[in-house]
Formats: sequence, structure tokens, C-alpha cells
Amino acid sequence: MKVTEHIQNANGKTLFSFEILPPLKGQNIQSIFDGIDPLMEFNPPFIDVTYHREEYEFKELDNGLLQKKVVKKRPGTVGICAAIQNKYQVDAVPHVLCGGFTKEDTENLLIDLDFLGIENVVALRGDAIKSEIYFKAENEGHHYASELVSQISNLNSGIYLDSDLKNVNTTNFCIGVAAYPEKHMEAPSLDSDIYFLKQKIKNGADYIVTQMFFDNKKFFDFVDKCRANGITVPIIPGLKPIATKKQLNQIPHRFSVDLPDDLIMAVVKAKDNDAIKQIGIEWCIEQSRELIKAGIPVLHYYSMGKAENIKAIARAVF
Ligand code: FAD
Repeated sequence: MKVTEHIQNANGKTLFSFEILPPLKGQNIQSIFDGIDPLMEFNPPFIDVTYHREEYEFKELDNGLLQKKVVKKRPGTVGICAAIQNKYQVDAVPHVLCGGFTKEDTENLLIDLDFLGIENVVALRGDAIKSEIYFKAENEGHHYASELVSQISNLNSGIYLDSDLKNVNTTNFCIGVAAYPEKHMEAPSLDSDIYFLKQKIKNGADYIVTQMFFDNKKFFDFVDKCRANGITVPIIPGLKPIATKKQLNQIPHRFSVDLPDDLIMAVVKAKDNDAIKQIGIEWCIEQSRELIKAGIPVLHYYSMGKAENIKAIARAVF
């Protein structure tokens, strides 16, 4: 079922969902199930699976030259989605990227997803390759998520890249896109970011999932701005509990997100890792309760495969 249908069927009740990432290459799928099993009691109607593009590794050769190797450290998104739908009868939502894909690659991936009975995708641009500063599209690829949304919408209307194809199958994907309450790190302003977010909706996106945030006011202000700009689709907040002291620096640096001073000081003064984890859980419970009170349709947790703290939060609020 589509994410938007799950929301409609819930009749105003807030739903619980979460996101996992594929294991490192060489690991088996049991680690994925171990991260999902403890959360099934909260009836997630859908589970997102992230996509991880290729990276470059440089190996020094005997002659001193560097050899560039292209590696994919976390393959398996499509297989994990199929396994989730098969094992749990829950909708799996693969993330689909512009980065590393030609339009032809994308079309073939979407055909695979359609054949597997996957009805939802989140369409993303993806970040730059780790060793590069700026995002570079493939020669025959998309530069922005809005273009990827158009391609998926086209396939939903039976428009393939090869216009000579006759009597074609039409897909029926529900399309999610990303948004940033504190603006995307490359965007010159929040207004311009929302302008391009609206482009994704115009091109066919059905719902929005946000970057993590730790101050609900930023989310509520963002939703107000989107609504004032004519964006009417559901906006699903992304939430992540802080779990380590290192994250105080990692999260702002990696995701361009601010942390509230109260949270920072509580973590700084915590006596050990267990205390930090508990602070993160309690902060996220407060955020979740306020969002539910405001009638938000779904709370989407970045579990990253670590179910324990998400379970503690879900138990308190769902
Ligand atoms: P876009 O919507 O294309 O926007 C990128 C930037 O370009 C923004 O600054 C925007 O304002 C600007 N822009 C957009 N259109 C135009 C235009 N026409 N002209 C000029 N500027 C424009 N990354 C992964 O690699 N794998 C994942 O699974 C993954 N999952 C994610 C899930 C969520 C919910 C979120 C919030 C992010 C996720 N990301 C993931 C990270 C994401 O790929 C990066 O944040 C990426 O840098 C931007 O992706 P986007 O889809 O928002 O890009």
C-alpha cells in the first residue's frame, strides 16, 4: 500500500515508522532483521531502506602511484526491501538516488522495484562522493531530485525513455522526497530551498520526509512556510535520538543541523555513555509527544539499525 494511503487509513492517528541502512558488504541480512524485530510491536506501516552510492578508495602501488578503486560498501537496498516485504508483510520504501545512476540505470531499477511489488520510493539527489566536495551527476543522469521525480512520474504514466516501446506497463509508485527544516546545506536560503522543494511536488512527489531536527519549533515553522507556499502534501518529521557525545559535533557537521543548548549542556554534563543515551531518549520522547499532540501523521525515526533506543521511545509514546 502507498504511504499516502496508510496516512489516510489512519484517520488522524499518528503512525510509527523508521529507517534502516544496509549492512556493510560481507555481513548477512540477520543484522537487519535483528534491528527490525524489536520494533514490529509498534506496527510500522512502512520501513525505509537507505541507498548508499559508490565511494573511491585509493591504494598505494609498489611504484608509489595511487590506484583508484570504486567500491560500494553498503549494497543490498533492493534485496533488503524485498526481504522485508516477504518476511514482515510491511511496505518497504527504498531510497533511490540520482548520484551514480544514468537515467537508463534508474529506469531499470524502477522496473525491478515494480516487479517486486514495491509501491513506494523516496527520490533523492544523494550527496557528493565522499572524496569530492560537490555533487556531480552522471553524464546521462539527473542533477536534482526534482528531475528524478519527473522520471518516476513519467513511468507511472507509461512514459519510458524509449518512446518506441508499445503497450507498456505503467508503474504506480508513491513518491517521497526529502526536505530540510533548517535548510539544505548547499541552499543559499530556506526560501530558495522551499522553492525547489515545491518543484519536486509539482513534478509528482506525494509526500515529504524531513531531515532530523532537535527543536520542534524549527519543524513547525518550516511546515507553516511550506503551507504558505502552497505545498499541501503530508510532511513527515525525521527524528533521531542523540546517543553519544561525539554526535554533538558530528550531527551539525554532517547534516547542517543545530542542537539546542539545553540538550548540548545535558550531554556535556552527563556522567557516562548510558546517561547520554538516556538523555537522548528523553529528549526524543518529548519531541515525539509534542508532534503527536500537533496531529502529525507519521513520526519517522532514524534507527540506523539500532533498535534499543527507538524501542524505548516508541514504548513511551505509541
Ligand atoms: P535536491 O532536492 O536535488 O536538492 C539539493 C540542493 O539543490 C538543495 O540545496 C536545493 O535547494 C537545490 N536545488 C534543487 N533543485 C535545484 C535547481 N533546479 N536549481 C538549483 N538548485 C536546486 N542520501 C543518500 O545517499 N542515501 C539515502 O538513502 C538518503 N536518504 C535520505 C533521506 C532523507 C529523509 C533525507 C532528508 C536525506 C537523505 N539523504 C540520503 C541525503 C540526501 O541525498 C542529501 O541531503 C542530498 O545532498 C540532497 O538530496 P535532495 O534529494 O534533498 O536534493
